[in-house]
Amino acid sequence: MRKRMNTGPVYYSGYTGISILFIIFLFAIMIGYQQLDWPGWVVFIPVFIYLILLILGSVFICFNFYFYSRCKGKTKEKEIAITFDDGPHPEITPRLLNVLEQQGLPATFFYTGQNVNKYKTILKKAFEKGHIVANHSYSHSRWFDFYNSRKVILEMENTNKEIEQAIRKKPLLFRPPYGVANPALGKAIHHTGMMSVGWSLRSFDTVNSPEKVLKKLKKKTNPGDIVLFHDTLENTPGIIEKYARWLKENGFEVVPLNKMLKIEVYEEI
Ligand SMILES: [Zn+2]
Repeated sequence: MRKRMNTGPVYYSGYTGISILFIIFLFAIMIGYQQLDWPGWVVFIPVFIYLILLILGSVFICFNFYFYSRCKGKTKEKEIAITFDDGPHPEITPRLLNVLEQQGLPATFFYTGQNVNKYKTILKKAFEKGHIVANHSYSHSRWFDFYNSRKVILEMENTNKEIEQAIRKKPLLFRPPYGVANPALGKAIHHTGMMSVGWSLRSFDTVNSPEKVLKKLKKKTNPGDIVLFHDTLENTPGIIEKYARWLKENGFEVVPLNKMLKIEVYEEI
């Protein structure tokens, strides 16, 4: 049997339950339509509700509709975790690592296999400085959400191989590109035994000015938050420097993701 780490309630999937309910309802309505002379349009009621649920389950990964994702720590202490997606970046990531070191902040980096392949020494440096490194697909392709489970598994495993070559450990955390969920991804997560990690607070550093990003973070930061940034953007190191100061002034502590979620983040190889 496949060795499984503490991947959490992997069988938890609203998708299976809702799909069974949908088929039962559809069947009942078909009977009503044939035997009781119901109007034809009633068939569209469960179809419409089902489609809405499928879309919401895809867009909001933390609904845990297709698979279970960890999106927030269960704590009342003023503790948060910070995460960075899409790197390593040859210029931004080293700058960011310096800021994190100066501010004494632990972080988690969700990296793409293709960038790890190009910038392995940067990933190694992040790991050696005590940060967690994790998987964010290989290609981060814009078509990723349309891949079948076989292709998704390949993306996850190839990225793990790249990371393993650098740190001699197998990462257990995976963050879906674009934060989109679907059944193929659910199957792949189950197959690989990885843990999906979402977020509870999105900085929107990809679209907003540093001022706007910081204004939002200051207003919305709460105990247990997992905050999402990107270490591929010019403004991110500066934002982190200012955010770190604000966190300290307001009694927040940044803790490693494994401490926040009480999970293992690597498997020894
Ligand atoms: Zn991404």
